[in-house]
Amino acid sequence: MHYDDVTYNIREKLLKRLINVGIIICLFGICEQMLIKPHIIALFPMLFLLAALVAGHIMSSKYNRTDIAEIIIGVVAIYVTFPIIYFTSGGIRGGAPIWFVLGLFYIIGIFNGKKMYVFLTCAIIEDIIIYVTGYIYPELIIPIESEGKIMIDSAFAIIFVGTFLGVITKFQLNAYNRSRKIAISQRDEIEKFSKSRNAFFASMSHEIRTPINTIIGLDEMILREKGLSDEVTENAETIQNAGKMLLSLVNDILDLSQIENNKMEIFPVKYSTEDMFNELIEVVRYRIEEKGLAFYVNIDSSMPSMLYGDAKRIKQVLLNILVNAAKYTKDGSVTLTAKSEAVSKDKCELTISVLDTGIGIKSENINTLFDSFSRGIGRDVNNIEGTGLGLSISKQLMELMGGEITVDSIYTKGSNFTVVLEQKIIDAKPIGNIDFLVRKGSRHLAYRRLFEAPDVRILLVDDNDTSRMVITKLLRETKVQIDQAKNALEALDLTHKKYYNIILMDYMMPGIDGREALQKIRRQENGLCKESAVLLMTAEGDSSIINKIMEEGFDGYIEKPVQGNGLEASIMSFIPNELLEFKAKTENVVVKTLAGETIIKPNVLKKKLIITTDCVCDISTGEAKQLGIMQVYLYVNTPSGRFKDTIEIGIDNVTSMLEKDRRNIHASAVSVEDYENFFASRLTEAEEVLHLSFGKNMGKSYWNAISAAKCFGSVHVLDSGLLSCGLSIVIKYASEALKNGASLEEITKLVQDMKGRVNTRFLLDSIDPFYENGYIGKKMRNIFNLFHLHPILAAKKSGLHIDGFMLGDIDSARIRFIKKTVKKIKNKTVNDIYVSHTGISVKQQEMAASVIEKAGICDNVVIHKSSVTNACFSGPGTIGIAYYKK
Ligand code: ADP
Repeated sequence: MHYDDVTYNIREKLLKRLINVGIIICLFGICEQMLIKPHIIALFPMLFLLAALVAGHIMSSKYNRTDIAEIIIGVVAIYVTFPIIYFTSGGIRGGAPIWFVLGLFYIIGIFNGKKMYVFLTCAIIEDIIIYVTGYIYPELIIPIESEGKIMIDSAFAIIFVGTFLGVITKFQLNAYNRSRKIAISQRDEIEKFSKSRNAFFASMSHEIRTPINTIIGLDEMILREKGLSDEVTENAETIQNAGKMLLSLVNDILDLSQIENNKMEIFPVKYSTEDMFNELIEVVRYRIEEKGLAFYVNIDSSMPSMLYGDAKRIKQVLLNILVNAAKYTKDGSVTLTAKSEAVSKDKCELTISVLDTGIGIKSENINTLFDSFSRGIGRDVNNIEGTGLGLSISKQLMELMGGEITVDSIYTKGSNFTVVLEQKIIDAKPIGNIDFLVRKGSRHLAYRRLFEAPDVRILLVDDNDTSRMVITKLLRETKVQIDQAKNALEALDLTHKKYYNIILMDYMMPGIDGREALQKIRRQENGLCKESAVLLMTAEGDSSIINKIMEEGFDGYIEKPVQGNGLEASIMSFIPNELLEFKAKTENVVVKTLAGETIIKPNVLKKKLIITTDCVCDISTGEAKQLGIMQVYLYVNTPSGRFKDTIEIGIDNVTSMLEKDRRNIHASAVSVEDYENFFASRLTEAEEVLHLSFGKNMGKSYWNAISAAKCFGSVHVLDSGLLSCGLSIVIKYASEALKNGASLEEITKLVQDMKGRVNTRFLLDSIDPFYENGYIGKKMRNIFNLFHLHPILAAKKSGLHIDGFMLGDIDSARIRFIKKTVKKIKNKTVNDIYVSHTGISVKQQEMAASVIEKAGICDNVVIHKSSVTNACFSGPGTIGIAYYKK
């Protein structure tokens, strides 16, 4: 029988082992009794015990009745053998008390439940009676003759009982270790399975989207035909709905698998509140109105007009609850209400609710409503199509965005789903009174082209013949000239011969994929389309992947399945006005770009050189933008997932996480692949890139950037010798030089000169983070911790080194540290002093600033929060100071 066999019973195996050990020890016990020669009846207990063990052995091995074996051994040993041993072998002046211990241990270790309680109670009562009887009637106890024999008797009992307990414990431990190993290997298997399942879902979603693309696209062509019979129109509309339903199902399954694998990422972008609600209402109103329900929209006019958040996911959640409201309401109305309340100068809390007069939800179902695959029960729900995934996904998306979704419902009367979410305000200007339902119309809007541009040339690159056919048909009315290429090689051949205004590029193609094709077109020798707008076409459902692809330098993207007007709108925004022969009056032209905004970016002129870096924490984001500095973002790994520094997680969040759970928060260096993508994107904006990296002995950043740069030839990586705080000073001077027309060589020289003149020092609360990052050994750490020393780290020789320490409480140590550093600076010219900190009090920050100001060494003292990298690296409570000696 194997350990992982489910039928295997550990207790059974343990009992068998105990019986074997017991028999051997009993034989020794009989010998021991012979040796100390007590009264003849003293031999009986051992013989009884031996008999019980043999009987137990037969019962369990031959008849498989371990339950009876346990009882026989327990009863004979505890209630017969041990009392006799007590009275015939010296009472408490012998080995008997130790046997009683064994009795109790046996009961607890072997029996379970009621049986255990009965045996235990009886054994305790028995022990008390024996002790009391022995005390009142000492003459009942046959003493052991000599001290020597008492010693032998109790020594034997100790060895016997000790071995017994040892065997039990060892056995349990082994069993535990084995089951742990099994659990670990099972967990690994599950993880492996879940990874492959995820990959399966991702490729399935892609595979399914492509044919849906054809169905929806061609069906739309049918609907565009004039003079269709009612029946044909109805059939085509049904196909359209079924196609969209299938698509949403694929999307739901993909979302769920991503959420379960912690792969779901949130991508905040700037978005127009009005557009967001308009698009939402546009999509949902037919669903509501076709059921004959009234649709009321109540959007607070004071709502800020531009916000920052993941508009796509917010829409997804709202769409789901609005569609549910329509699905689960037979008559009455659906009301969408939204309002916002300012929580700080640049943040507001949105409260959006959807109220319906539908079937309502039974209170017993409310608790499981947000679980995956949980659907309401009853006739009302069974007749309505659904999978029970929407609310589960919505809830998890809201949690990822830091918001919440709740429901209030009265069964048979209706439900009210409310979403509460904090968003950053980009433009607080109120949206005002907007009639969100003005664009009423028939269910299927008659198609009308958005533009005509017969001189525009489009190259359509897609390996799927049907996809190319659908897109060509959908663009027919715009009169654009379309050439088709089945693969990247055909495309490159065409871009070498002919200029195209726009290239529509499929991503997944056999051989050279869309990404590589894009890079090749951009760098094609004598290529005619190096600066054409290239739009990515993708059936990928995962927005994190789409965003990643977009960073490769695509100008925009079109999601498959392509929908007629959306496709035209995207393309139109890349066509210069002079080429548009006809332009329809449109309300919403949405071009999907990385920033989520409508950006028209045709033929941008490339700069000669741009400077990029690993971190710009000392200068504000605004200043960095003005200086044209581009930063690559690293990832912060936390127990609640992986976040992109600055974009998805800010220093405040990281600081509070570090304060709670420092050991589990790590910043990982940017990977070679991410650097490659980053540099590739930058090379679409400039001919050359100068990347100023962290010191080469400070983690992997420098080396990863160097490896990535090798792919390009026009990316230059320079070791700044510094960590974030300090590196920004170099960046600032380098960017100013670039603005003033300095060449790559001149800037490189400037950076080399600055090396060694920019000083950075940090005072850490504890040495532990430095040790955990592998910079020092355990002994050194122990010394620091033993004397409660706060280490001072300084950047030297492109690495970090201990440059002293501070004693005493950390608050006063920080001020002494600043004073000490200021003393070092005296008599040297410094322009700016940057003080960075990770979560220290405002009072302490002010004290630090006043110490520097009093010293009169510098006019400009900048106090700022440290970078996320630095915070993860040096832990909470760190203060750093950076300055440039000219
Ligand atoms: P689906 O609608 O596909 O079943 P959801 O996760 O969106 O899945 O919803 C789960 C369940 O919650 C539904 O099956 C339904 O019983 C209940 N439900 C959701 N919204 C409403 C609503 N507005 N009114 C009544 N019941 C609802």
